[in-house]
Amino acid sequence: MDFNLSDEHKMIYEYGNSLAKTYDRKYWMECAERRAFPKELYQQSAADGFVGTMAPEAYGGAGLGMLEMELFTEGLANNGIPLLTYVIGSVMSLGPIGDHGTEEQKQRYLPDACAGKTRFCFAITEADAGTNTMQAKTFATKTADGRFKLNGNKTFITDWGESDYALVVTRTTSLADANKKTEGFTLFIVDTKAKGIEAQPIPVSVALPEVQYQVFFDDVDLGPEDVLGEVDKGFEILFECLNPERIMVGAIGAGLGRFAMDKAVEYANERVVFNGPIGAYQALQHPLAKAKTEIEMASLMTRKAAWLFDKHEHCGAEANMAKCAAAEASIHAVDASLQCFGGNGFTKEYGIFDIYPMVRLFKTAPLNNEMVLNYIGEHVRAYRVLIKSILFIRKVRLTKR
Ligand SMILES: Cc1cc2nc3c(=O)[nH]c(=O)nc-3n(C[C@H](O)[C@H](O)[C@H](O)COP(=O)(O)OP(=O)(O)OC[C@H]3O[C@@H](n4cnc5c(N)ncnc54)[C@H](O)[C@@H]3O)c2cc1C
Repeated sequence: MDFNLSDEHKMIYEYGNSLAKTYDRKYWMECAERRAFPKELYQQSAADGFVGTMAPEAYGGAGLGMLEMELFTEGLANNGIPLLTYVIGSVMSLGPIGDHGTEEQKQRYLPDACAGKTRFCFAITEADAGTNTMQAKTFATKTADGRFKLNGNKTFITDWGESDYALVVTRTTSLADANKKTEGFTLFIVDTKAKGIEAQPIPVSVALPEVQYQVFFDDVDLGPEDVLGEVDKGFEILFECLNPERIMVGAIGAGLGRFAMDKAVEYANERVVFNGPIGAYQALQHPLAKAKTEIEMASLMTRKAAWLFDKHEHCGAEANMAKCAAAEASIHAVDASLQCFGGNGFTKEYGIFDIYPMVRLFKTAPLNNEMVLNYIGEHVRAYRVLIKSILFIRKVRLTKR
């Protein structure tokens, strides 16, 4: 086992440091407050080959894996630069099109997207279904000529209004008619400006450069050429997108936590209010040290999940643990940093409180930590065994009575 990063991995991880020299946190924050997409930063990262990190080389991508995407994302977040577009576009859209798209789809969509000329977003959430994706009602009905009519709605879709295309998760067979609840889903590549689509921005209280939208589909015309993978078998592709999504959240959370703590350490070493720098107080050191421990553990688990994903091994446990751990650790890191800054932590000049909303978001979205813990409780072996044991003991006791 080797925990050292290769030279190539180091370069990818440190790329964020050089990008941040031109496009720093201040630039990101100005974009976020105006709800303006950071075009220049995105174009530069596309030109440097990072938007298409996971897309095949033959279609303009870098042909690399999840670990490289994770290192790139973590390195940017270390500098206070988190972009959800890399999650929903680069990872959740370009990756699956590269893996499951037809030759025509790959040629049509990947080169422009990797070059930063077009953008993708990803639409799963529905207002009525919420976390319970199985209850999604957005439906693509097959028509007599072999095409589809899409009807329904999605909510909180990041970047819909600014993206060119979206991967939309729909049902093509209703839950009632499906053999299994995961059957009957189809992923469509949808032109976001197609006839029959209406999108309305949702004002969200987190400063983000990407806007969220509520999207309505009214008889949107789709063809078989728009299906990603197979009709009714979309859940398998969706499943392949969800672990990478959690890994990306792990990377952003770990990076933002470090960003906040680096600032706090610098400040605490300089700020004198009694006899010496406030950093000498263990009362300030311990929360930072604890958060640092949690952040580095979350980062390790995130990289392990990415490494497993690239080896095509099961990474559900690791990806879920990484997401949960990074969400909690980054909240603790920002909170500990905020305390070091005193009143200054709440000012725009120092910008520490501004980091909080995004890390707090990760406890709820893209998947709430309760669902993550449900997964770990139900699927990860040690816990399954524990639950089985408890049930067994209860049964024995009841029989004895
Ligand atoms: C800024 C932002 C960006 C987003 N971007 C996208 C996007 O690009 N694409 C997209 O499809 N969606 C997106 N979402 C939607 C996001 O994924 C959902 O908000 C999230 O999955 C939670 O769903 P919900 O809001 O319907 O919460 P609900 O399902 O209503 O859940 C509410 C709360 O109930 C609890 N809960 C629910 N189920 C359980 C359970 N089984 N066990 C224990 N507790 C439970 C949790 O605490 C949860 O937070 C975004 C959301 C936000 C806020």
